[in-house]
Amino acid sequence: MQYHSTRDNGISVTAAEAIKKGLSVEGGLFVPESFPEVSADEIKALAGMTYNQRAKFILGKYLTDFTEEELDYCVNNAYTEEKFGTKKIAPIYKLNSQAYFLELWHGPTCAFKDMALQILPYFMTTSMKKTGEKDEIVILVATSGDTGKAALEGFRDVNGTRIIVFYPNNGVSEIQKLQMVTQEGNNVSVAAVNGNFDDAQNGVKKIFTDADYAKLLERNGFKLSSANSINWGRLVPQIVYYFSAYADLIDNGEIECGDKVNVVVPTGNFGNILAAYYASKMGLPIAKFICASNENNVLTEFISTGVYNKNRAFHTTISPSMDILISSNLERFLYDLSGKDDKLITEWMTKLNSEGSYEISADVKEKLVTLFSAGCCNDAETMETISRTARESGYVIDTHTAVAKAVYDKYVAETGDSTKTIIASTASPFKFNQSVLIALENHNAVLGKDEFTLLNELSEKSGMEIPKSLAELKNKPIAFDLVCDKNEMQAIVSDFLMVE
Ligand SMILES: *Cc1c(COP(=O)(O)O)cnc(C)c1O
Repeated sequence: MQYHSTRDNGISVTAAEAIKKGLSVEGGLFVPESFPEVSADEIKALAGMTYNQRAKFILGKYLTDFTEEELDYCVNNAYTEEKFGTKKIAPIYKLNSQAYFLELWHGPTCAFKDMALQILPYFMTTSMKKTGEKDEIVILVATSGDTGKAALEGFRDVNGTRIIVFYPNNGVSEIQKLQMVTQEGNNVSVAAVNGNFDDAQNGVKKIFTDADYAKLLERNGFKLSSANSINWGRLVPQIVYYFSAYADLIDNGEIECGDKVNVVVPTGNFGNILAAYYASKMGLPIAKFICASNENNVLTEFISTGVYNKNRAFHTTISPSMDILISSNLERFLYDLSGKDDKLITEWMTKLNSEGSYEISADVKEKLVTLFSAGCCNDAETMETISRTARESGYVIDTHTAVAKAVYDKYVAETGDSTKTIIASTASPFKFNQSVLIALENHNAVLGKDEFTLLNELSEKSGMEIPKSLAELKNKPIAFDLVCDKNEMQAIVSDFLMVE
């Protein structure tokens, strides 16, 4: 299997090269040249397998340059019961006879980013080895919260890698900050940047594009890389859990193999929902993709009008991991819908960059609306959905999952569609404990209480156990108290790597 760029079909690289590079030179994203088919019999066979066996089967179809042993090494180091607290890795929760939550948050940082970031480091080091790379890889991350911690946990103590995460000093939640500053591992560093997420992000970009600095690092045996969600190595592991969920539904007698299901995904960068689309291209029977957004509803509008327009107010919401105006992975989806028209994609993406908007052609739009449905909800509806879901079924969901549930409920009310539906549950409610407790009770329930009191109260209220990794934060020493200005970020990297 070779990989092309969405902006140049002439580019052709192996999976290992695509993973090592992250982004194609002309700015396009790597996409597989074709979608390997999975037959109905093969899907049926998945039902009897463990998550790791399913993962190896699906990943093997894309990472054809990886050996059997290499795939085993990656999968078995990433998805362990010890790290995920469950053998199932990504279990299904049956809400009722029609809707099922796919719990993607059992990993070490309690959000779905773990599903990809636990395995990416192994893909990365394997890819380096396969391509003859001798340098040590230095992962640079600017984070608004979830990605930074998931990347730190994924890369910690992985041989041949180092990782440095920059977060905005006053831009992450208390628990996210605690998760990062108490990070363990011999190859990690964390620093707060005075400024907002954009400052941290721009600082990282500047280090990445400084050619002289790259040379200095190379002389010292280091090469910079990134772990953000446009890397093929982050997308491909996400295809696995849609197959796994479907296989579980067969296994539990909820569906017959071949029955169509809907999927609902709370969307930000469009990575998670794109993985579901890729699964359907391979043969997974999906009827409708329902794209759920919060008040940053650029995708909802796009799916109904065919116009992508990022020129709009940015809203800070209680589902912050979806506060995004540029959904990078949409590019891969449009590439496929347009019949791999790299010229057209380049034109649209150039327009997005210069004018902040573009309009897709009528034929692409028609394909889009037959496959996709979209909806959005505001913070008040999100809160109401958490509260109503808990009242009706005793199941407590986080704010991001609640956006998906709210949009799904509206979809069912409008269409009467009774197709069985998988709702992607992307974070543990404990990670967003403050909003969840307010939804379940009221504002007074959280006033003046620290994070650990809130975790305890949410546990009592929900009957769910506090995730071990969050409970343990209380006794972890602070390992990082670095605070820097945005123009000092490069110096922090140099100090960490001991280069000058
Ligand atoms: C990142 C994230 C999302 C959005 O996922 P995309 O792949 O960017 O669409 C949704 N929920 C949570 C909790 C996240 O961390």
